[in-house]
Amino acid sequence: MRACVLTATGGIDKLNITEVPDAPAPKAGEVRVSIRAAALNHLDLFVVAGLPGGGGGPGVTSVQPGDRVLINPGIADYSCEFCRAGEHSLCVTYRLLGEHLPGTMAELVTVPAQNVVRGPNVSPALTWAEAAAFSLVTLTAWRMLVTRAQIKPGETALIWGIGGGVSLTAMRIAKLLGARVIVTSSDDAKLAAAKQLGADVILNHRTQKVATEVRALTNKRGVDVVVENVGAATWDDSLRCLRRGGRLVTCGATSGPQVHLDLRRVFWHHWSILGSTMGNAAEYAEVVRRLGQGELRPVVDRVYPLAEARVAFERLAKAEQLGKVVVELPSRA
Ligand SMILES: [Zn+2]
Repeated sequence: MRACVLTATGGIDKLNITEVPDAPAPKAGEVRVSIRAAALNHLDLFVVAGLPGGGGGPGVTSVQPGDRVLINPGIADYSCEFCRAGEHSLCVTYRLLGEHLPGTMAELVTVPAQNVVRGPNVSPALTWAEAAAFSLVTLTAWRMLVTRAQIKPGETALIWGIGGGVSLTAMRIAKLLGARVIVTSSDDAKLAAAKQLGADVILNHRTQKVATEVRALTNKRGVDVVVENVGAATWDDSLRCLRRGGRLVTCGATSGPQVHLDLRRVFWHHWSILGSTMGNAAEYAEVVRRLGQGELRPVVDRVYPLAEARVAFERLAKAEQLGKVVVELPSRA
């Protein structure tokens, strides 16, 4: 099968479109999916959508050959103590398709049947690019805001770097749940687009002092929730923006993972610092249900053919996107 592979640990110049052995035929409880689109997250993490090609192994009844499916890229063992408690993203062997498991921006991929769901019927129908763009960012942002930060109607959230898929989805979830949202970017065009998509306040973090602006906007109180995935570059300002008793939820550290934390401020201000990665099966079912109701339809930035995958990664590497960058694969049929 054709696949986009990293031939060595390295940069975009190490990406190649090449022939690799087909993904293995599905065993009991697995589904092999014929991939039609893959959304880019970072250099080695792709999320995909497609059709069961080669179908399901023994015992699989949830999907049939020909169904259009979404894939939850978080692969759990469905047997450890955390899985049995329904917390699949806490699984002791948790892995992400593309990051820890091979061969995902490829024509075929084999995954546990629990990770595959039929795409909901919505009008207009989801494109392959939208289907691929949906799962990772929506699941991640949903768990961050709903399960971890427990954002409530009328609360205010600060969300950094609105061009990124998780940030943009977090903004839309916060709005859906009745919160007020302050978003940042270094790009005025992205900020204008975010305003169109529902942002209440937009701040350019290159030309404005975010903490000063946020404290002014909230009468020195600070925001209820900060959504972090930037890390070192924004951490100090994130804490300056957080109200007494506020919650900071983080799922990433794109600018670096090492930050300074004065514990006296944590306990004195009753702050909650919350980590979050992906989400469990119930959360995934909930976001797919919401998608079926016409909510949280993903924002696709640009779509590229597989042959131009490198160009797609370059757009991501330069942070030029608003929403998801997607690569489409031709039908194998
Ligand atoms: Zn487990």
